[in-house]
Amino acid sequence: MSRRQLIAGNWKMNLNRAGAVALAEVIVRGAGGVSHVDLAICPPSVYLEAVGKVVQGTPVALGAQNAFYRQSGAFTGEISPTMLVDLGCRYVILGHSERRHILRETSEEVNRKVHAALQVGLIPIVCVGELLAEREAGETAEVIRRQFDGSLSGLTAEQMVRVVIAYEPVWAIGTGKVATTEQAQEVHALLRQLLQEKYDGQVAESVRILYGGSVNPENAGPLLAQPDIDGVLVGGASLKGDQFLAIAAQGRRT
Ligand code: PEP
Repeated sequence: MSRRQLIAGNWKMNLNRAGAVALAEVIVRGAGGVSHVDLAICPPSVYLEAVGKVVQGTPVALGAQNAFYRQSGAFTGEISPTMLVDLGCRYVILGHSERRHILRETSEEVNRKVHAALQVGLIPIVCVGELLAEREAGETAEVIRRQFDGSLSGLTAEQMVRVVIAYEPVWAIGTGKVATTEQAQEVHALLRQLLQEKYDGQVAESVRILYGGSVNPENAGPLLAQPDIDGVLVGGASLKGDQFLAIAAQGRRT
């Protein structure tokens, strides 16, 4: 299998400037020991520039946690994909469940953002995932299919292979309740099947699908060993440099 795993840290709305810089320095120092995976850190947007200076020229890529769907204009408070590229970002998380559920972001908006991000060469990390009630009602596959169709609509095969998908069951995010390897692998295999149906085998085999939800150094190994799990999106544990690096160390050696 040739997909190189990606270990991405989502720092959410945490840390201050000095703390963000210090954490990035720890991760950059340890990054040489985990050259078998791709690494990315996604600090709050106001610290992107400071963290960008730390990671510049290192194997640690910079990512943002959100972007708007237009490149410039009268959109008070928003940040454009062009601006993120200007700051040195390679990745942007889009459609995180906290944005979908707290800020009521729809798959249609996420889709517009995906197109805008790709337009300027950013790699979108597009999050999908079901609520606990949806899983308990047996609706997981339906929810994933709906979010996949809505968030990734209108992409050519060439665009699709540049996108990273993150399966993040909402009930597992920040709760300490990690999905079992079987639960995660099942949805990852479904996502790959959806890619196969919509595109072809080559696209399905190329797209990286990450798992996210309470990943820590203790549970990362078995998840990262699953055939359809191509990395992890880490929240809480990414705020501790040693934990983030310990998760990355367990990535697949291709
Ligand atoms: C996340 O924010 O994407 C996430 C998975 O958070 P946590 O690891 O804290 O559950």
